[in-house]
Amino acid sequence: MHPTDPITALPSIGESRAALFARLGVFTVGGLVEHYPRDYDDRSRVRHIADLALGVQNTMRGVVASAPEALYKNGRSVVKLVITDDTGSLEIVWFNQPYLRKQFVKNKEYIFTGKVISNDFAGGRGQGLGRKCLFKMENPDFELLDGHELLSGGRIVPIYPSTAGLGQKLLRKLIYSALDALSGQYPEDLPEEILDEYRLCPKYMAVRDIHFPPSDACFFNARRRLVFEELFFTQMALFRLKGRLKRESGVAVQRLGAEELLAALPYQLTDSQSEALADIFADMRSGLVMNRLIQGDVGSGKTAVAMAASYAVIVNGWQAALMAPTEVLARQHFKTISHIFGKLNIECVLLAGSLTAAEKKRARQAVSSGAAKMIIGTHALIQEAVEYNNLGLVITDEQHRFGVDQRFSLAGKGELAPHVLVMTATPIPRTLALILYGDLDISVMRGKPPGRAEIGTFAVNGTYRRRIYAFLKKNFDEGRQAYIICPAIEDSGSGLSAVKKYAVQLQEELPGYAIAPLHGKMTAAEKQAAMDGFARGEIRALVSTTVIEVGIDVPNATVIVIEDADRFGLAQLHQLRGRVGRGTEKSYCILISDAQSQLGREKLKAMQRTSDGFELSELDLQTRGPGDFFGVAQHGLPEFKIADLSKDLGILKEAQAAAVNVFEAGEFDGENEIETLISGGKGKGKGMAM
Ligand code: ADP
Ligand code: MG
Repeated sequence: MHPTDPITALPSIGESRAALFARLGVFTVGGLVEHYPRDYDDRSRVRHIADLALGVQNTMRGVVASAPEALYKNGRSVVKLVITDDTGSLEIVWFNQPYLRKQFVKNKEYIFTGKVISNDFAGGRGQGLGRKCLFKMENPDFELLDGHELLSGGRIVPIYPSTAGLGQKLLRKLIYSALDALSGQYPEDLPEEILDEYRLCPKYMAVRDIHFPPSDACFFNARRRLVFEELFFTQMALFRLKGRLKRESGVAVQRLGAEELLAALPYQLTDSQSEALADIFADMRSGLVMNRLIQGDVGSGKTAVAMAASYAVIVNGWQAALMAPTEVLARQHFKTISHIFGKLNIECVLLAGSLTAAEKKRARQAVSSGAAKMIIGTHALIQEAVEYNNLGLVITDEQHRFGVDQRFSLAGKGELAPHVLVMTATPIPRTLALILYGDLDISVMRGKPPGRAEIGTFAVNGTYRRRIYAFLKKNFDEGRQAYIICPAIEDSGSGLSAVKKYAVQLQEELPGYAIAPLHGKMTAAEKQAAMDGFARGEIRALVSTTVIEVGIDVPNATVIVIEDADRFGLAQLHQLRGRVGRGTEKSYCILISDAQSQLGREKLKAMQRTSDGFELSELDLQTRGPGDFFGVAQHGLPEFKIADLSKDLGILKEAQAAAVNVFEAGEFDGENEIETLISGGKGKGKGMAM
């Protein structure tokens, strides 16, 4: 038996079970043993009946004392069994599973795991059994003791992601038999030096112990090995991809036209904007394809950099496309860019989901005829129906919401590989940047355009709310605008502030000032109407969820109030704060929180102490790991089979070090593994879904 064999090669799996496994994404024997548990139940302590603990789950073994009874009580079926061991007897009942009666044979021994309660059946029932039991167990899991290896009791038991028709017991049995069949034939896919250097256990041992760990220590060893391997191969795949992309020739850019564009901009570029542009121009002139990530702190002015890069390919006769994660952002970019490009006689076109069919058709025609040089949009840009005339540059803004696969499907749209520029406002520590963007070169933009006042950041508790409303009113009267951020949309009784309710209440507090909600459950048109009204200054305040987190640029908004601020990650708070302070007016960020926790307080203190996004994100990563780092939704983190970056940062660092070494040494024969990952990992789980 070999891991690549179809699962039907296993004796107990036929076509119908194979169809069920297909639902779990399992097709091969190897895929089956890599269907890892999602959890474990420690049933290794087996008790005597006399020692059973009341009210909790126990595992015990005992002999069936008499033939099982099946009866009906209040319309439901009850199967009843009495079990004995040297110390006593126990009554076991199952409800609504009449077929179980046939599973038990008198005088045979079984192991049971279930909750034990005291037996409140009035004495008399079960008399036929000759004994009165003090304890009762309901609906336990069980297994016959007949000399085979126990899988569901008396050990640490795996719990799998399952589907109807494939229950836990069956999965355990099938996976156990697959492991058995593969014993001694499981290929080792990490080089021996790495196993030695990082003290990793062999592959077969790891897959075996991840399912049926003989002890906690074995589990940790197995998991560490598998996590290491997964991260190692992902990192290798990214490096490999980068090496390969680097050899491809790109769209040739001779003249950059920077002077014309700069003349059309209402400001001078900052040093960091110029430096990023210099990196980009060097890439584009090299004759090879550019794959670059711009990590620019919020408000550092990435849009201008995107414009200049686009202009350079456009003056050389190519098209440029800019993809934003939301329609609101796409429209904002369209407005900014078409305003500047209009002066330079360059046609811009918007492609977004909410356009009418006729508008879409017209836009697509302009794209395919080549009339439109600058194409701005959302995911609509990568849809099949869009045909580019000669795409020379692809820019994705706020990249951490797009996946590698999407990046490539857009990149694959031209004849010649277009240049790729990725922009993100999330400052990412190097460790994470490598696993998220290991295929890209990186430029960093720090600092903001000159003339920006520092944003005053204040952390207060709920007792300040009155004063804050008065402060909002004062700002409105001076012609300014504000954002109020709540963690929830609807009031679910969790005590968290919710957008809908808050917007109504705030409107009551401040009648005469237009206040509007903004959240993800609104339609694209509703969201756009709220954003437009806000951008025009008609709406004074937006009460919003974090949908406004990324990219929104309304310089007249000078106050952001964040309710339940402790609920957000530091990087996210920093993003939110970046929505203000975008003009020359003094701006304020007010963090409201009644949290008592040490961590929550420290977070808010850090926000007050520094406005450097890189410092905050480093801190975020150190204190809480990457889970919080990206906020609750964990946008953009790769989906791993077993690794969890919020726990496995240490292993990630080791795996990266190993990958760097191996890659630099240039000798490695794990090609298959890496190719599978690059091509999306068919038959190997989700592969590199990033
Ligand atoms: P981000 O990097 O967060 O995407 P934007 O590109 O939205 O930042 O720019 C933030 C604001 O700064 C915008 O209002 C933009 O017009 C302005 N801006 C950009 N570059 C400069 C500059 N060099 N000088 C002055 N203002 C600038
Ligand atoms: Mg931006």
